[in-house]
This record gives sequence, C-alpha cells and structure tokens, in this order.
Amino acid sequence: MPKHKKEQEATIRVGQQMTLTIKSLGINGEGIGYFKRKIVFVEGALPGEVVHAEVTEAREKYATARLLRVVEKSASRTVPPCPVYKECGGCSLQHMDYAAQLASKQEIVIESLRKYARLPDPPVAPTIGMDNPWSYRNKAQFQVGKQNGKLIAGLYQAGSHRLVDLEGCLVQHEATTKIVQAAKKIIEELGIPVYDERKRTGVIRTIVARVAFATGETQLTLVTATKEIPRVKELILELRTRLPELVSIAQNVNPQKTSLIFGNQTVSLWGRPSIAEKLGELSFDLSARAFFQLNPEQTKKLYDEVKKAAALTGKELVLDLYCGTGTIGLWLAPYAREVRGIELIPEAVEDANRNAARNQATNASFHTGRAEVLMPKWAKQGTRPDVVVVDPPRTGLDDALIRSLLDVQPKRIVYVSCNPSTLAKDVAKLLQRYEVVSVQPVDMFPHTSHVECCSLLVRKDEF
Ligand code: SAH
Repeated sequence: MPKHKKEQEATIRVGQQMTLTIKSLGINGEGIGYFKRKIVFVEGALPGEVVHAEVTEAREKYATARLLRVVEKSASRTVPPCPVYKECGGCSLQHMDYAAQLASKQEIVIESLRKYARLPDPPVAPTIGMDNPWSYRNKAQFQVGKQNGKLIAGLYQAGSHRLVDLEGCLVQHEATTKIVQAAKKIIEELGIPVYDERKRTGVIRTIVARVAFATGETQLTLVTATKEIPRVKELILELRTRLPELVSIAQNVNPQKTSLIFGNQTVSLWGRPSIAEKLGELSFDLSARAFFQLNPEQTKKLYDEVKKAAALTGKELVLDLYCGTGTIGLWLAPYAREVRGIELIPEAVEDANRNAARNQATNASFHTGRAEVLMPKWAKQGTRPDVVVVDPPRTGLDDALIRSLLDVQPKRIVYVSCNPSTLAKDVAKLLQRYEVVSVQPVDMFPHTSHVECCSLLVRKDEF
C-alpha cells in the first residue's frame, strides 16, 4: 500500500473531533460530510451547515460522528415540534422545514440514479408533498411496557431496545392516539399484566389502533402473549364506554419470542371483524391483519401517478407485480382490458381477490407466487403484458424478474419503489432495452427519511 494512502486511512479515529461542511442528506436522514475524503455521517446535521462533531465509529469506507455544535446553521433548520423527537425512532427529519425535506428527497433520488444507473441528468420531478404534513398515519402500532411501575406504550428508540412512551404523536391521526391512550389507561386500571419480554410473563404486548380516513370507522387490536385475557369482559365494556367510536375490537395472539408484532391467531372480541375504508372510487374491508397503505392521502396521489405513467387506453393487459392486497391493480382495472396481480403472501392474495369482487373488477385477478417465478412461467405460456407495474420491497427486483422483463419486453414498466438505491441499481440493468422517461417522488412519510417513487420506463423502440 502506498504510504500516503496508509496515512489517509489512519486519519480518522473514534473520539476525534472535527469540523465538517455538510454536503447532502443520506438515505437515513443523516447529514453527509467529508473529512480527508472519507465520508462522514452526522445525525441531525443538515446540508449547507458547518458542524463540529465527534467520531463515534470509524470504518474503512466511512465514519459516523455525533453532532456537538452547529457552527453555521442552515436556513432550513427548524425546531422539531415533537417533544420526544430526539428519543423516539419514528421521525428523522423534523429538524428540517418541510419544503427542504421535499427538495432533499428529490435530490436523494437524483443522486442514486446518477450513481448507480449512470444517468447524468435523470428526469426526477419535484417531490409531491402534503398540504398538511401531520396526522397522516392511519395506524398506530405501539409496544406496551413498564417504566418505573407505570404502563407505557410507544416506539423503540432508534437502534436500541428502549421503549419511548408516546402520549401523543404528531404524525398519527388523532383518532388512533385517542384509542391508544384510552386502552393504555384501561389496561392499567384493570391491572391486566403487561408482557415482559425477558421473563416471558404477562399478557399485553402491543396496542394497534387503526382509523379508516374515508368513513371514520376505527378498530382496536390487542396483541397478547396468551389466549386468555384476565377481566376481558370489563376490558371490552370499558373500551366501548370510553371509545364509542370503535367499530371493531380484535385480539391477536402471539406467544412467540419474536420481534414480529403479530401471531397467527386473530379473534374478534367485539363488534365487526373489519372496518370499511375507501380510496378514491374503491372500497375496502380491513380486517385486523389486512395490509393497507399507511398514508391514504398520499397513496391516492401515488396511484394517480402510476395511472398516468401506465397511460392505459382500455386495450392493455397489465401485470401488477408485488401487488399486496391488489390496490394498484384495482386502481388501474377500470382503464385496462385485464389486470393480473402476483403476490407472495396467500392471505394478501385472498384479500386482493375479495377486494376485486367487492369493487366489481371482473377483469382483475390476483395470484399467489413469486413474481420472478410466475411471470416467466406465464410468459412461456404466451402471456404478453403491455404494461408491467412492479412495487417490490426495499431489496428491489430479483435478477430473474429483470431477465424476464428484458425477455418479455412490455412497452411500459412502471416501477414503484420505496428505496432509491435499489431502484437505481435495477434501472441500470433495464437500460439496455428501456429509457427512463419520468421519475416522480411522492412523500408518503413526511418527517422521516423514506422516499417513495413512481418511475416510468418505456421500451426504446416505442420511445
Ligand atoms: N403494491 C402493494 C404492496 C406493495 S408492498 C400496495 O401498493 O399496497 C410489497 C409486496 O411484495 C408485499 O406485499 C410482499 O409480500 C410482496 N413480495 C415480496 N417479495 C415478493 C416476491 N418475490 N414476489 C411477489 N411478491 C412479493
């Protein structure tokens, strides 16, 4: 190794203090600066700022540092309105004003496409934000625990197992907060034991509250370690008395030692098993376990972007890959000849087909399987989709699926992504046959670093 390189690597060590200029925002919302050409992540620092920081971790390729002092403040810096912003792991951008959050999310997508897809000037539109970026979440999923003998419910601190009690949460819809707080109080008053992870004793693990934005119906699900809940009759009576707006009370039993929230068994404790929700013209029945997008207002905007990108005329066969409960496919079905969805989880596929029937989408069907297995299989049987929509998990598309897309060559690929890095890496592979026409970021989770994108890829000979 040349001497100067060795010297360079030895320049950063834990405990070292440094002054950095922050250049951009990382995918987890941290500020990114450079010290002796090494990348340094500083949580809480904003682009354009000069900060003083102390190194907490020094790796070969990067270092992380703790923000000590902002020397030159960004004009986008705001005081986070949430009192537990620092402790709670839920949000990571509340210290940045909303317009700047939207701009930096657009920038993150542009940078990813430059870096991984080698597009010098990617066509990324400004992020579609919310008029009021608060109270947008329709579901609260709070872990229950004990702190100094008091029952608490909330989220774990980022990167730790310390539970932060949340008496209110600014990004949660007020209806969910009211339910969680009332449930917490009643459980404590009745002395129903809280589950203790280490000792594996107790009952109540998680409080899940969900509200249907369109109808106002609400649902409470208590996740318990045991099938039996002591004083369950009084519990239900108190819940109904103090929360008359509840339509559905359910119990999910999860006896396992696991970080997964839900167990396999769900029973109705009182009322209807599901609540009714609407998205645009579509209606959905949401049972306790049914997946539904968390920010309905932005979901509608995202799906409208998908519809615009798909540019349907009524003649097309559309594949909705990674379809979940079929919402994107059903959004497109009125404008297509046929929609076929593929989803890995059988329960979600059942929900999707039920949703299709409920909305009289007779040209839509949903199938259980892996997209990368079923799509090539259908292709062999002669299926030739005109438009393929993909909405994969954070890991992006499987290589076999990319090969199948390059083999089948639909005119349009609409790529819905929640991870700009994997989006860009997948796009890079599709560039041999496709042109990236537009990329539209949509802010599904204001004040967090998440970025959702709807990208349109058009086959080169159609372009
Ligand atoms: N399009 C849906 C949900 C997208 S979330 C919506 O808008 O609501 C991604 C989905 O991909 C999840 O439901 C997950 O179960 C599913 N999934 C993960 N890996 C898959 C695979 N290999 N093939 C098909 N579906 C998969």
